Amino acid sequence: MKILITAGPTREWLDPVRFISNPATGRLGYLLAAEGRRRGYEVILVSGPTRLEPPAGGVVFVPVESARQMAEKVRQFFPEADCLFMTAAVSDWRPRFRRNKIKHKTGIKLTLFPNPDILSTCGKNKRPDQILIGFALETRNLIEEGKKKMREKRLDYILVNDPNFFGKEKGRHVSLFISRKGKVIDLSNRSKEDISRFLLDHCLTICNNPSSLS
Ligand code: C5P
Repeated sequence: MKILITAGPTREWLDPVRFISNPATGRLGYLLAAEGRRRGYEVILVSGPTRLEPPAGGVVFVPVESARQMAEKVRQFFPEADCLFMTAAVSDWRPRFRRNKIKHKTGIKLTLFPNPDILSTCGKNKRPDQILIGFALETRNLIEEGKKKMREKRLDYILVNDPNFFGKEKGRHVSLFISRKGKVIDLSNRSKEDISRFLLDHCLTICNNPSSLS
Protein backbone atom coordinates (compact mmCIF):
# COMPACT_ATOMS: atom_id res chain seq x y z
CA MET A 1 0.00 0.00 0.00
CA LYS A 2 1.27 3.44 -0.93
CA ILE A 3 0.04 6.53 0.90
CA LEU A 4 0.49 10.14 -0.09
CA ILE A 5 0.34 12.70 2.70
CA THR A 6 0.48 16.49 2.54
CA ALA A 7 1.29 18.49 5.65
CA GLY A 8 2.06 21.92 7.03
CA PRO A 9 1.17 25.39 5.83
CA THR A 10 2.06 26.89 2.46
CA ARG A 11 3.90 30.18 2.01
CA GLU A 12 2.82 32.71 -0.56
CA TRP A 13 5.53 35.30 -1.07
CA LEU A 14 4.67 38.98 -1.56
CA ASP A 15 8.20 40.17 -2.10
CA PRO A 16 11.69 38.77 -1.28
CA VAL A 17 11.24 39.32 2.49
CA ARG A 18 7.53 38.75 3.24
CA PHE A 19 4.96 36.00 2.82
CA ILE A 20 1.35 35.11 3.69
CA SER A 21 0.93 31.87 5.63
CA ASN A 22 -0.92 30.29 8.57
CA PRO A 23 0.00 28.67 11.91
CA ALA A 24 -0.32 24.99 10.88
CA THR A 25 2.41 22.91 12.55
CA GLY A 26 2.25 19.92 10.18
CA ARG A 27 2.29 17.58 13.18
CA LEU A 28 -0.68 15.35 12.24
CA GLY A 29 0.71 14.74 8.75
CA TYR A 30 4.17 13.88 10.10
CA LEU A 31 2.65 11.50 12.67
CA LEU A 32 0.63 9.80 9.91
CA ALA A 33 3.80 9.43 7.83
CA ALA A 34 5.81 7.89 10.68
CA GLU A 35 2.98 5.55 11.71
CA GLY A 36 2.40 4.55 8.07
CA ARG A 37 6.07 3.55 7.72
CA ARG A 38 5.90 1.64 11.02
CA ARG A 39 3.04 -0.37 9.51
CA GLY A 40 5.13 -1.12 6.42
CA TYR A 41 3.39 1.14 3.89
CA GLU A 42 5.23 3.14 1.24
CA VAL A 43 4.86 6.76 2.32
CA ILE A 44 5.36 10.01 0.38
CA LEU A 45 5.18 13.16 2.51
CA VAL A 46 4.77 16.46 0.64
CA SER A 47 5.34 19.16 3.20
CA GLY A 48 5.16 22.92 3.41
CA PRO A 49 7.68 24.63 5.73
CA THR A 50 7.46 23.32 9.33
CA ARG A 51 9.75 23.14 12.35
CA LEU A 52 9.55 19.34 12.38
CA GLU A 53 12.27 16.86 11.46
CA PRO A 54 11.29 14.77 8.44
CA PRO A 55 10.31 11.29 9.68
CA ALA A 56 13.18 8.79 9.48
CA GLY A 57 13.01 5.26 8.16
CA GLY A 58 12.24 5.44 4.47
CA VAL A 59 9.56 8.11 4.13
CA VAL A 60 9.95 9.86 0.75
CA PHE A 61 10.12 13.49 1.86
CA VAL A 62 9.19 16.20 -0.65
CA PRO A 63 9.56 19.76 0.69
CA VAL A 64 7.61 22.55 -1.00
CA GLU A 65 6.73 26.15 -0.19
CA SER A 66 3.76 27.47 -2.16
CA ALA A 67 0.35 25.99 -2.90
CA ARG A 68 1.24 25.80 -6.58
CA GLN A 69 4.39 23.81 -5.81
CA MET A 70 2.35 21.49 -3.58
CA ALA A 71 -0.24 21.08 -6.36
CA GLU A 72 2.52 20.13 -8.79
CA LYS A 73 3.96 17.44 -6.48
CA VAL A 74 0.54 16.01 -5.65
CA ARG A 75 -0.24 15.86 -9.36
CA GLN A 76 3.01 13.92 -9.83
CA PHE A 77 2.55 11.40 -7.00
CA PHE A 78 -1.24 10.96 -6.76
CA PRO A 79 -1.63 8.51 -9.68
CA GLU A 80 0.57 5.94 -7.90
CA ALA A 81 -1.06 6.37 -4.46
CA ASP A 82 -3.76 4.16 -2.94
CA CYS A 83 -4.73 6.81 -0.48
CA LEU A 84 -4.28 10.59 -0.04
CA PHE A 85 -4.35 12.28 3.37
CA MET A 86 -4.57 15.98 2.54
CA THR A 87 -3.73 17.41 5.99
CA ALA A 88 -1.95 20.50 4.60
CA ALA A 89 -3.36 23.92 5.40
CA VAL A 90 -3.11 25.21 1.86
CA SER A 91 -3.29 28.96 1.44
CA ASP A 92 -6.45 29.72 -0.50
CA TRP A 93 -4.97 32.84 -2.08
CA ARG A 94 -1.65 34.24 -3.24
CA PRO A 95 -0.55 37.80 -3.93
CA ARG A 96 1.35 38.88 -7.01
CA PHE A 97 5.08 38.52 -6.28
CA ARG A 98 7.08 41.77 -6.41
CA ARG A 99 10.76 41.32 -7.24
CA ASN A 100 11.75 44.36 -5.20
CA LYS A 101 10.96 44.86 -1.53
CA ILE A 102 7.70 46.77 -1.01
CA LYS A 103 8.38 50.06 0.80
CA HIS A 104 6.51 50.40 4.07
CA LYS A 105 6.05 54.15 4.24
CA THR A 106 2.53 54.05 2.82
CA GLY A 107 -0.30 51.55 3.19
CA ILE A 108 -0.69 49.09 0.33
CA LYS A 109 -3.66 47.35 -1.20
CA LEU A 110 -3.12 43.69 -1.98
CA THR A 111 -5.04 41.83 -4.61
CA LEU A 112 -5.12 38.12 -3.79
CA PHE A 113 -5.59 35.50 -6.49
CA PRO A 114 -7.19 32.09 -5.81
CA ASN A 115 -4.84 29.12 -5.55
CA PRO A 116 -5.73 25.80 -7.18
CA ASP A 117 -7.82 23.52 -4.98
CA ILE A 118 -5.51 20.52 -4.89
CA LEU A 119 -7.93 18.15 -3.23
CA SER A 120 -10.83 19.00 -5.55
CA THR A 121 -8.61 18.28 -8.53
CA CYS A 122 -7.73 14.87 -7.05
CA GLY A 123 -11.45 14.26 -6.38
CA LYS A 124 -12.25 14.91 -10.02
CA ASN A 125 -9.46 12.68 -11.33
CA LYS A 126 -9.42 9.84 -8.83
CA ARG A 127 -9.82 6.19 -9.72
CA PRO A 128 -12.56 4.28 -7.88
CA ASP A 129 -9.91 2.34 -5.93
CA GLN A 130 -8.26 5.48 -4.52
CA ILE A 131 -9.29 6.79 -1.11
CA LEU A 132 -9.34 10.55 -0.43
CA ILE A 133 -9.29 11.98 3.06
CA GLY A 134 -9.72 15.72 3.51
CA PHE A 135 -9.27 17.88 6.58
CA ALA A 136 -11.14 21.04 7.41
CA LEU A 137 -11.11 23.74 9.99
CA GLU A 138 -14.45 25.30 10.77
CA THR A 139 -15.67 27.75 13.39
CA ARG A 140 -19.36 26.73 13.27
CA ASN A 141 -21.77 24.06 11.95
CA LEU A 142 -18.92 21.56 11.76
CA ILE A 143 -20.97 18.58 10.58
CA GLU A 144 -22.91 20.45 7.88
CA GLU A 145 -19.79 22.23 6.63
CA GLY A 146 -17.81 18.97 6.64
CA LYS A 147 -20.47 17.11 4.66
CA LYS A 148 -20.76 19.95 2.16
CA LYS A 149 -17.01 20.01 1.63
CA MET A 150 -16.89 16.24 1.29
CA ARG A 151 -19.53 16.38 -1.47
CA GLU A 152 -17.94 19.33 -3.28
CA LYS A 153 -14.44 17.81 -3.25
CA ARG A 154 -15.66 14.22 -3.80
CA LEU A 155 -13.99 12.81 -0.70
CA ASP A 156 -14.39 9.47 1.03
CA TYR A 157 -13.76 10.90 4.48
CA ILE A 158 -13.22 14.24 6.13
CA LEU A 159 -11.88 15.17 9.56
CA VAL A 160 -13.43 18.47 10.63
CA ASN A 161 -11.75 20.33 13.45
CA ASP A 162 -12.43 23.51 15.36
CA PRO A 163 -9.64 26.14 15.57
CA ASN A 164 -8.28 24.69 18.84
CA PHE A 165 -6.81 21.87 16.75
CA PHE A 166 -4.94 24.27 14.55
CA GLY A 167 -1.41 25.27 15.40
CA LYS A 168 -1.66 23.83 18.90
CA GLU A 169 0.34 20.90 20.22
CA LYS A 170 -2.13 20.01 22.98
CA GLY A 171 -5.44 21.18 24.35
CA ARG A 172 -9.15 20.66 24.06
CA HIS A 173 -10.44 20.48 20.53
CA VAL A 174 -13.47 19.31 18.60
CA SER A 175 -12.64 16.74 15.90
CA LEU A 176 -15.32 14.94 13.94
CA PHE A 177 -14.54 12.19 11.47
CA ILE A 178 -17.27 11.94 8.82
CA SER A 179 -17.66 9.29 6.14
CA ARG A 180 -19.17 9.72 2.69
CA LYS A 181 -22.16 7.74 3.89
CA GLY A 182 -22.75 10.27 6.66
CA LYS A 183 -21.44 8.35 9.67
CA VAL A 184 -19.89 10.71 12.27
CA ILE A 185 -17.25 9.54 14.76
CA ASP A 186 -16.34 11.95 17.54
CA LEU A 187 -12.55 12.13 18.03
CA SER A 188 -12.66 15.31 20.14
CA ASN A 189 -9.84 15.85 22.62
CA ARG A 190 -7.95 12.77 21.46
CA SER A 191 -4.22 13.23 20.94
CA LYS A 192 -2.87 13.65 17.41
CA GLU A 193 -0.97 10.35 17.85
CA ASP A 194 -4.26 8.63 18.60
CA ILE A 195 -6.04 10.33 15.70
CA SER A 196 -3.28 9.37 13.25
CA ARG A 197 -3.56 5.70 14.33
CA PHE A 198 -7.35 5.84 13.99
CA LEU A 199 -7.10 7.33 10.48
CA LEU A 200 -4.65 4.67 9.33
CA ASP A 201 -6.78 1.86 10.76
CA HIS A 202 -9.67 3.13 8.64
CA CYS A 203 -7.57 3.66 5.55
CA LEU A 204 -6.18 0.12 5.70
CA THR A 205 -9.61 -1.44 6.09
CA ILE A 206 -11.15 0.54 3.24
CA CYS A 207 -8.22 0.12 0.82
CA ASN A 208 -8.27 -3.64 1.36
CA ASN A 209 -12.03 -3.84 1.00
CA PRO A 210 -13.59 -0.78 -0.71
CA SER A 211 -17.12 -2.13 -0.20
CA SER A 212 -16.61 -1.84 3.58
CA LEU A 213 -16.74 1.99 3.39
CA SER A 214 -19.38 2.95 5.96
O1 C5P B 1 -12.05 24.30 1.51
P1 C5P B 1 -11.09 24.08 2.63
O2 C5P B 1 -9.81 24.85 2.50
O3 C5P B 1 -11.69 24.24 4.01
O4 C5P B 1 -10.76 22.53 2.52
C1 C5P B 1 -9.81 21.92 3.31
C2 C5P B 1 -9.24 20.71 2.61
O5 C5P B 1 -8.95 21.03 1.25
C3 C5P B 1 -7.92 20.31 3.24
O6 C5P B 1 -7.80 18.89 3.13
C4 C5P B 1 -6.91 21.04 2.39
O7 C5P B 1 -5.66 20.39 2.39
C5 C5P B 1 -7.55 21.02 1.02
N1 C5P B 1 -7.23 22.19 0.18
C6 C5P B 1 -6.57 22.00 -1.02
N2 C5P B 1 -6.27 23.08 -1.82
C7 C5P B 1 -6.64 24.33 -1.45
C8 C5P B 1 -7.32 24.53 -0.23
C9 C5P B 1 -7.59 23.43 0.56
O8 C5P B 1 -6.24 20.86 -1.36
N3 C5P B 1 -6.34 25.36 -2.24
